[in-house]
Amino acid sequence: MARIAIAGFQHETNTFSPVPATFADFEAPDAWPGLTRGEPMLEAVAGINLPAAGFAREARSLHHELVPLLWCSAQPSGPVTRDAFERVSSLLIDDLRAHRTVDAVYLDLHGAMVAEHVDDADGEILQRVRRVVGPAVPVVASLDFHANLSRAMATAATALVSYRTYPHVDMADCGARAARVMHELLRGARATSCIEQADFLIPLTSQSTLNEPLRSLMAEAEAAERAPLLSVCLTPGFPAADVADCGPAVYACGTDEPATTRVVRRLAAELCRREGEFALELFPVAEAVARVTQSPVPRGRPIVLADTQDNPGAGGNADTMSLLKALVASGAKRVLAGVICDPGAAARAHAAGEGATVELSLGARTATAGETPLEARFKVRALGDGRFTGTGPFYRGGRFELGPMALLELGEVQIAVASRKQQAADQAMFRHLRAEPAEYSVLALKSSVHFRADFGPIASAVLVVEAPGPNVADPARLPFERLRPGMRTSPRRRAP
Ligand SMILES: [Zn+2]
Repeated sequence: MARIAIAGFQHETNTFSPVPATFADFEAPDAWPGLTRGEPMLEAVAGINLPAAGFAREARSLHHELVPLLWCSAQPSGPVTRDAFERVSSLLIDDLRAHRTVDAVYLDLHGAMVAEHVDDADGEILQRVRRVVGPAVPVVASLDFHANLSRAMATAATALVSYRTYPHVDMADCGARAARVMHELLRGARATSCIEQADFLIPLTSQSTLNEPLRSLMAEAEAAERAPLLSVCLTPGFPAADVADCGPAVYACGTDEPATTRVVRRLAAELCRREGEFALELFPVAEAVARVTQSPVPRGRPIVLADTQDNPGAGGNADTMSLLKALVASGAKRVLAGVICDPGAAARAHAAGEGATVELSLGARTATAGETPLEARFKVRALGDGRFTGTGPFYRGGRFELGPMALLELGEVQIAVASRKQQAADQAMFRHLRAEPAEYSVLALKSSVHFRADFGPIASAVLVVEAPGPNVADPARLPFERLRPGMRTSPRRRAP
């Protein structure tokens, strides 16, 4: 039995977003807990599809004792402020120092955090932890699928373990894998690691593991994770990050150095060989709307329009109105859209009450070029307090705190509105407002890929729409300045 310190500090940073992540953002709960320290931290994550929850459960079943430090995350946004990064890091490091007798450290990190003053913020945290515990103590971190995995992270950690699915339905499982790797290290396994970074960026919407090429690439990574290898990670990267370590990587750690290197080289070569299959398919708004108005929709099988560029799960603000306006104007029938973040509109709907009609300027609260609010008289169909539990495979167990919510109706279009932004990746977000997604013909969702976990099974088709928003879907359109020399900002198409 060993004493293992456990902590989590997660942020996915879109460096092109002007909205920073502040300390208050890490303090506030959303679908996941706000900043929680000490013993209550384990309670706060328990039962949620989160790595720290999976790690805690598995480590205890392996008879280890946990020393909880803290857990926090903030919604994806622009860089973490210096204040927030230093305050959370200091809490973590000070609490770790206070427990000098720990035998190991587990960190639940994202891997694509950028702070105002540190490009590789996760590498920095791992290095600070390493400095406290010294070279011999195992330090294991789990990383998001979208980690921009760096050499600094690989060097500072004894082992890294990353999610294998997008939508991320295996976050808790990944934590459990990290616990098993930790168990081997505590039993005396001596690991070496190896990393190779690829030289092209992969658009988010081409990264789903429900589709090729990542479905089979990830299966190969999973198959390679067996003795003498402890962990094999294939991280496609978070492309909206103007930092030197942005991009896909293959990492492995194992007890046999040549075998570990061989696996990394083989998987990295395979990833590069399939580069052309990552090419992007996006529908302009007009084309997507024409499709849903012209093609018959089977009952109970809506068409999903993924409003990816305003996905708050990747730095959007869930308030652009272009797709909604086009749907209203098109005469499309039985449309359910959301979730729009507009606390003012939600408050007005609550003041008016269910069944009332209310004049609103909905959305466009943040400055996305060319975006204006949807001004109309809406009927308030349903109200909610924004407190409910996630039921889909991605947000499973998440205790949502979205503030006052409303379901507004404008002709054939119904719009879910919340007071805090959250990616529309769980049907519970609509059911909270008594809207059953399968009963609609068109679902317009502020999400890129995570919606596929819960909405995929009811969808007759999915169109990824290129409506305005800060989460630019095609990395080739982003004004990068700091990528590694030779990086391609979009996958090279295969020669015809
Ligand atoms: Zn992710």
